[in-house]
Amino acid sequence: MNTKDLKQKILEAKKETGTIVLAHTYQDPDIIDVADVTGDSFFLSKKAAELKAKRVIMCGVRFMAESVKILSPETETILPVPSATCPMAEQIAPERIRKFKEENPTAQVVAYINTTAAIKAECDVCVTSSSAIKIVEKLDADKILFIPDQHLGSFVKKQLPDKNIILWDGYCPVHAQLTAQDVLECKAAHPDAKFAVHPESPAEVVALADMAGATSEIISYAKSQPGKVIIGTEKGVVDYLSTHEENGDRFIQLAPHKLCCEDMKKISLEDVYNAIIGSCGEDIQLPEDLRKKALVSINRMLELG
Ligand code: SF4
Repeated sequence: MNTKDLKQKILEAKKETGTIVLAHTYQDPDIIDVADVTGDSFFLSKKAAELKAKRVIMCGVRFMAESVKILSPETETILPVPSATCPMAEQIAPERIRKFKEENPTAQVVAYINTTAAIKAECDVCVTSSSAIKIVEKLDADKILFIPDQHLGSFVKKQLPDKNIILWDGYCPVHAQLTAQDVLECKAAHPDAKFAVHPESPAEVVALADMAGATSEIISYAKSQPGKVIIGTEKGVVDYLSTHEENGDRFIQLAPHKLCCEDMKKISLEDVYNAIIGSCGEDIQLPEDLRKKALVSINRMLELG
């Protein structure tokens, strides 16, 4: 079946089954085309809750489907390809967090939203890349453990020098590959371009940027600029901007050979269709006590952020 026909079948199947398709911005443009909601991971889970969706297909990675389930336990939440996981989301074991808290009873543990539900259940508060600085600034603790991303943690620490922030040594294997050399070469090829980067990137790369922020902030910034913008995040963002904005060729992909997340690209248009009709995917389940504990950390994020 060709792509056009498959898209048409997806639209019909969504209607027949009352299914909502959520797609992270890093997904393939064909999946974005058939999605009901597109955006950052936490935005998608909030949207699913607002829509009171009965059934959603989460086109992204496992922690994103778990976040939908944490906020909307009644929603049937399908991850089309069960092996699509974020390597960073599991780079600290929940037992290690418990041990840290036993050893540091007055400390607080801050978890990036890109973590499993089991990790969220052990931390004190979650943060997104756009709310991290604001939330950590408000924490009244002698010691703050920031998990798992050392680069986002170091970005926050730099903005808040008065806070005693301890970094975990996790990282996003996609953004962490970037080097200052990648940026300098791209800037040399596009001397008039601005440079926007995700703070999951190493500090030497962020230091060269005109702006650093979450995916949605990068998109807003890129749209607001009159000229070329070098985009230092997963290639789905440039795909999205190029197809949804006029003069799409003004968005320049930094290091295209590095900035492609294999896990985010595991889902195909066929998988989306098969998940809608119930012939593939995993129905995400979370133990209720764990879900409730993870929800506490997310609710605290909403209160502070
Ligand atoms: S881009 Fe990085 S943080 Fe995002 S899903 Fe892929 S590995 Fe995880």
